[in-house]
Amino acid sequence: MSLNTPPGRPISDAGRQALLRQSAEDLFPGGVNSPVRAFKSVGRPPLILTSGSGSRVRDADGNVYLDYIGAWGPALLGHAQPQVVEAVRAAALDGFALGATGPGEIGLGQRIRAAMPSVERVRFVSSGTEAVMSAIRLARGATGRDLVVKFAGGYHGHGDSLLVDAGSGLATLAMPGSAGVTEGAARDTVVVPFNDPAAIAAAFEAFPRQIACVIVEPVIANVGVIPPDSGYLELLRDLTASNGALLIFDEVITGFRVARGGAQERFGVRPDLTTMGKVIGGGMPVGAYGGWADLMRQIAPEGPVYQAGTLSGHPLAMAAGAATLDLLTPALYEGLERAGARLEAGLRWAAAEAGRKVSISRVGSLLTVFFRPTAPRNGAEALESDRDAFARFFGAMLDEGVLLPPSQFEAWFLGAAHTDADIDATVAAASKAFRA
Ligand SMILES: *Cc1c(COP(=O)(O)O)cnc(C)c1O
Repeated sequence: MSLNTPPGRPISDAGRQALLRQSAEDLFPGGVNSPVRAFKSVGRPPLILTSGSGSRVRDADGNVYLDYIGAWGPALLGHAQPQVVEAVRAAALDGFALGATGPGEIGLGQRIRAAMPSVERVRFVSSGTEAVMSAIRLARGATGRDLVVKFAGGYHGHGDSLLVDAGSGLATLAMPGSAGVTEGAARDTVVVPFNDPAAIAAAFEAFPRQIACVIVEPVIANVGVIPPDSGYLELLRDLTASNGALLIFDEVITGFRVARGGAQERFGVRPDLTTMGKVIGGGMPVGAYGGWADLMRQIAPEGPVYQAGTLSGHPLAMAAGAATLDLLTPALYEGLERAGARLEAGLRWAAAEAGRKVSISRVGSLLTVFFRPTAPRNGAEALESDRDAFARFFGAMLDEGVLLPPSQFEAWFLGAAHTDADIDATVAAASKAFRA
């Protein structure tokens, strides 16, 4: 199916979406299989999307939207990129999963290692959450320590020990952030504010020789985009090294997006362990974790840290990932940077025209318009944004045929399929929507 029609609302199957929505609500909690798809925070009924092509997606009523959800990160090349589709089709003909090591895993593993020098050895899993849970188990196993430090506003999947909120104070042990997470699971996590050198230093002082690892999104992208202050990632590197703790970069979003070699390339800081997902699966369910060879030797069957997966390194996912990475050329990243700058400049102009005080944070193809006057430097500041204003903006953009992530606290995912004309159409829509 071609989605070459311009964004807009050519109604063909009106009513189909409402019926599907009803069935979904009947079947699934909240009508969805992942919470943010419910559009709850923007007060809109959720979209039922039936297809995507390039920079566009189509809903079940036939409306076409310019898409900035980008599958929540994987769609760096746009939807249904022909070479990726062909690679998956070819892999499927050889069988979906054979339950043994295959050439696809080796091919994708080699591509990842070549892009990220800190990843000397790698293990594939099936989601970002699984990658993070496994990397943390490895960090604990390798150091013999229990505590994990994370940053307020950082998201690392839905594993128990990371679904926590900070208590008050600079460096406190955490409280469960979800029903069903035990205090025991939360107790081993320390939450500190991002971009705050004193807070992370205080955490190491408060828990000497107890911290197994610090896990960080090197660019926070799950409370909206928050770049690291200059020198901050280097500080994390120094403090972890001098305290015998491991540094984990959660590059599930940033890997192969903010640079081929991820944030560790872009900012020039090498972690001990890296978690990946999203782009490396080209839209298929994939996660991976990797790091220095001597650390990765601790993983079963070579070492004592157990971790396994029936569908790990799935051939179709490996094929989609390898085909995707092969298209990520230096020219593609330059194009993404240019497109990101064009979108940012256009949005700044549109907001100023409309007299709307917003801030825009961007790292390459990740961008957030915060409905607050200054760019947040940590999770707490991000949460001070005006959610109602965002919800009005979101709705007005949708009415103009532009689909943003349905939350103030998510990054817009720009991809290589977004053309200059797409970006200009987005800016034109925003100059109306900022007045909503
Ligand atoms: C999406 C995400 C995860 C979780 O990945 P899933 O594939 O959704 O389990 C972990 N960390 C970060 C930084 C993410 O953005």
